Amino acid sequence: MVAPRLEIDLDKIYHNAHELVTRLAEHRISVTGITKASLGSVEIANAFLQAGVTGLGDSRIENIKPLRLAGNHVLFSDVPMTLIRSPMLSQVAQVVRFTDISCNTEIEVIKQLSFEAQKQNRIHQILLMVELGDLREGIMPDDLIDVVGEVIGLPHIFLKGIGANLACRCGVVPDATNMALLSDLTAQIESVFNLTLDVVSGGNSANLRWALSADSRIGRINNLRLGEAILLGRETLRRQPIDGLSTDAIKLVAEVIESKVKPSLPTGDIAQTAFGDAQPVSDRGLVRQAILAIGIQDIDPCGMQTPTGINVLGASSDHLIIESSENKLFVGEELAFELDYCALVRAMTSPFVSKIYSSRQGVPPAYAFGKMRSQTLI
Ligand SMILES: *Cc1c(COP(=O)(O)O)cnc(C)c1O
Repeated sequence: MVAPRLEIDLDKIYHNAHELVTRLAEHRISVTGITKASLGSVEIANAFLQAGVTGLGDSRIENIKPLRLAGNHVLFSDVPMTLIRSPMLSQVAQVVRFTDISCNTEIEVIKQLSFEAQKQNRIHQILLMVELGDLREGIMPDDLIDVVGEVIGLPHIFLKGIGANLACRCGVVPDATNMALLSDLTAQIESVFNLTLDVVSGGNSANLRWALSADSRIGRINNLRLGEAILLGRETLRRQPIDGLSTDAIKLVAEVIESKVKPSLPTGDIAQTAFGDAQPVSDRGLVRQAILAIGIQDIDPCGMQTPTGINVLGASSDHLIIESSENKLFVGEELAFELDYCALVRAMTSPFVSKIYSSRQGVPPAYAFGKMRSQTLI
């Protein structure tokens, strides 16, 4: 079989998505399925939708466009698509054309979205992102009312709601305090402007622990944007497996191209390597060393969960060097790894890594999506 490859089990992704959608529904929270780690994969987006997510989101218009456009998948066109990164001014025309909703923090951008939406005769919906302490995107809470005042005066723009994003830049934990602030801000906007906000999007996979804990006060939060927890089956604050979810829905398989017994210590003077300073190594005498035909171009070597008895020793662009403490590996042999988010994103975006989808339980392949949708969803 072709190698390297990502083996993507759509049944497990469907199961993970369905579990989270169901558990959150008990708290009246809807799920927007985030496709950015999968490079806008139509198959994965399809599994999300079959599992009951209420919309799809991605950080890049380049990933959203094919979902919306691809010939057989035109039925994706009635799924709400959200751009979850603030639009580039240079892309506002595409944002209006290919998405329904975008997350925003800059009035300058929203004015341009309004201008483009008028030109295209569309209504563009926006979520205003609020800064709650993680110091990535977001309007400072004290400025929010003023921004809302400007936004609701703009033609062809509909203020769909507000949102926040934590645990991305600084690891700030979503908790009762910051989530209550988001709820309070919602209520403030509604009373000052006498309107109702449809969506209060509390965050990402890092919000699950808060959202699902028995004593949490959900307040006005009614949406989460989930990617990693669905794909990898782990919460993202401590990367612990989530009860009842699969952590091996996606596996990376790579092939051995060299297998030898070599010294564990290099010979000669040591200077920089292909990627900077050499890592210290310990003397373990002779070891079984093998090379896999995959490298830093395709994978984050630190983000690979190795099978027992296998350790990653190092990597360069095209070579992953491993040590096998138990058995000799054979040239041509394949090894499978679970991945963390960083390694997954790298592998997904590498054109050298094939993506092989499987589904035994009938999560329909994307080409059947049109038929499936008309049978089950309408
Ligand atoms: C990436 C991202 C998400 C999804 O995060 P996961 O950890 O994959 O669930 C949600 N919202 C925003 C704004 C993001 O950038």
